[in-house]
Amino acid sequence: MKVNLKKLFKKSTDHVEVIKLNNNMPEETKDTEEKSVEKNSDFITQQDTTVCPKCKQEFSKQEIKDNLNVCVACGHHFVISADKRMKSLVDKGTFKPLKCKVELTNPLEVPDYEDKILSLREKTGLDEAVLAGTAKIDGYDAVVAVMSSKFLMGSMGIAVGEKITNAVEYADRKKLPLIIFTASGGARMQEGILSLMQMAKTSAAVEKFNNNGGLYISVLTHPTTGGVTASFATLGDITLAEPDALIGFAGPRVIEQTIGQKLPEGFQRSEFQQAHGFVDQVVPRDKMRETIAHILRLHSKRGR
Ligand SMILES: [Zn+2]
Repeated sequence: MKVNLKKLFKKSTDHVEVIKLNNNMPEETKDTEEKSVEKNSDFITQQDTTVCPKCKQEFSKQEIKDNLNVCVACGHHFVISADKRMKSLVDKGTFKPLKCKVELTNPLEVPDYEDKILSLREKTGLDEAVLAGTAKIDGYDAVVAVMSSKFLMGSMGIAVGEKITNAVEYADRKKLPLIIFTASGGARMQEGILSLMQMAKTSAAVEKFNNNGGLYISVLTHPTTGGVTASFATLGDITLAEPDALIGFAGPRVIEQTIGQKLPEGFQRSEFQQAHGFVDQVVPRDKMRETIAHILRLHSKRGR
């Protein structure tokens, strides 16, 4: 099969549009996705202080870090690493990563793609844009997967699709509840149509898990867009979201241009999605662990 790369990458996609609209992308990934993104204000930089993009107050970096990367004044949720999120969620020392080795491939032979992945692996400590494993949450066993927006904007390619599917299938085999935190710009353009196929693959795994009676809690974090929204992110039995997260398929500007109308305030944000029935509950980061533990307890046979 011959692929015309130029043609493929010239095409504007939802993925690109979402990133153009959003100046809250993590520092590490902005140059790989969209050169025109303004200096990111949501990522805690190497300096000692950071300015909250919402309330514009300056805080010590440590103060924000100690508060789960949430602004101590206004509650703005900064980007959090997959590792830190996992630690904030699961019982200490209980996380065991699921074994799922996926070969690094470059099906469209995109220049520098493999180097980019290798350098991101080093930078983030993750092998791909999702961290998945088993853990206990308040004593309850679960399979937990956390996506990282710091790894190529959490885009879903072959490896992410495989790791998510593997986590769902493991939860199905072991009869464990499944919790997935999503953060994604959508399908990974560098892997072309193979990235789109991950939507069907992950969705099919979730359907099987669902048919077998599994409990799936989906937690949408900023941003959850494109192919991830259009697949496993919105297939949860219970859908939670972090405050003010962008949740949608195409970005607001694309929609505005298409329908020729001004969109309402807060469009596609968590609270808007909750008001319109797409999200069951908006949960601040510091309440996430107890909320999930509560849901696990309600669905547990042994109760407490
Ligand atoms: Zn603030």
